[in-house]
Amino acid sequence: MDLTFTPQEEKFRSELRGWLDANIPAAWRDPSFWRSVSDDEGFELRRDWERRKHDAGFAGIAWPTEYGGRGGTPGMKAIYDEEMALAHAPQSANALGLTFLAPTVMAIGTDQQKRDIIGPMLRNEVIWCQGFSEPGAGSDLAALRTSGVLDGDEYVVNGQKIWTTNAMHGDKLFTLVRTEPGPGPGRQAEGGISPVGTNNDQSGALEAGTARRDPEARRSHGMHRGISMLLVDMRQPGVETRPLRQLSGASEFGEVFFTDARVKASECLGGVGNGWKTAMLLLSFERGASGISQYATYRRGYDEIVAAARRLGRDTDPTLRRELASRLVELECLRYHAMHVLTQVEQGRDLGSESSITKLQWSETYQKLFETFDHLLGLDGVVTSPVDGLDLASLQFEAFWTRSVTIWGGSSQVQRNIVAERVLGLPR
Ligand SMILES: Cc1cc2nc3c(=O)[nH]c(=O)nc-3n(C[C@H](O)[C@H](O)[C@H](O)COP(=O)(O)OP(=O)(O)OC[C@H]3O[C@@H](n4cnc5c(N)ncnc54)[C@H](O)[C@@H]3O)c2cc1C
Repeated sequence: MDLTFTPQEEKFRSELRGWLDANIPAAWRDPSFWRSVSDDEGFELRRDWERRKHDAGFAGIAWPTEYGGRGGTPGMKAIYDEEMALAHAPQSANALGLTFLAPTVMAIGTDQQKRDIIGPMLRNEVIWCQGFSEPGAGSDLAALRTSGVLDGDEYVVNGQKIWTTNAMHGDKLFTLVRTEPGPGPGRQAEGGISPVGTNNDQSGALEAGTARRDPEARRSHGMHRGISMLLVDMRQPGVETRPLRQLSGASEFGEVFFTDARVKASECLGGVGNGWKTAMLLLSFERGASGISQYATYRRGYDEIVAAARRLGRDTDPTLRRELASRLVELECLRYHAMHVLTQVEQGRDLGSESSITKLQWSETYQKLFETFDHLLGLDGVVTSPVDGLDLASLQFEAFWTRSVTIWGGSSQVQRNIVAERVLGLPR
């Protein structure tokens, strides 16, 4: 494991830090600012700011210059992630495109797709959403039913997606559809596979198999076959989006309905019928995304929780102190794991199923940190009002958010199945 950055990478760090210092308005560094604006206003501010960041040369750090990137090293990308977190930079308006779709396009897209997708994404001209989950297909992703039927040189798409992050702001959706019919319930039953989704997968875990502990039987029944990843224009009459309101009052995600939506046949990523393989590659980027920015963000949260404990006079409680010490150790483990992953990436290794280890580690470290915050506040942890006159609303909101991180991108249970069966090779 290499824990150092090169002089050239450190030079990049100071250039970026200088730009962030000069370009993030002071008000934005106060998290209460983002609560004072509506979802739509906040989104547009972030969209515009990120566009300016692109114009200043701080976008697509490790991507080839021919597609609009900066042509930097993985180390520079890690520094970028860390500095963004340290500077309290606003969250990306196009995170799903930038973190999941773009590396997939770089790996398997056609030259035309690279040209069409990467530049507009970096300039935030096109906001991307991910359309994988359906009402009957979450962990059991291969149970998806949305269909795409070829009509001339276009697919006609019908069906529904759910939990689509940014649905209300999205321009395009990378989505999984059945371009060949899947097996019906009769065939499933015949093969001994329950028609009820007992398998797991937003993940590749379907292949790791748990359904009837017999993934080969399931695969031979074609659950993974005939799926394609289509790139759908969300701004067309055949696509309707509806917001889903969360407990916090926000609508960060929604439902997407397709009624005879049209997609050009050339807007298929990874080849017709190869959607499962394409999705697994994309999910490895979703789960294995740099833990370095996560470490920087959570470490800041940790420091804020310790400061709150001091101000509330709870910092001498031995039980809380022991818990905080454990959280700090876990955070440092996350940092070293992130550096290990970075070293592997720099050496050109494909992490594949190992990205599930990264997902498990960052999501559970983050969630446990905020469970400790709840232990500090007691019942005050489940509201967003001041505690003994202290405004902790940002941390209280973050505590709500952490409940979701062991679900999206594939739940912890599903990740454990993958690590057990694919990484450790344990018997089923
Ligand atoms: C904040 C947030 C944002 C999201 N954004 C998106 C998005 O942009 N696009 C998108 O497509 N989806 C998105 N999702 C959906 C997410 O991917 C799914 O919620 C997730 O895959 C789980 O599916 P499910 O909700 O249907 O739960 P289910 O699959 O019904 O699972 C319910 C429970 O059963 C457990 N379980 C299921 N199968 C197994 C098994 N075989 N072994 C052990 N335990 C199992 C699960 O771990 C879970 O605890 C988002 C979710 C959240 C919370």
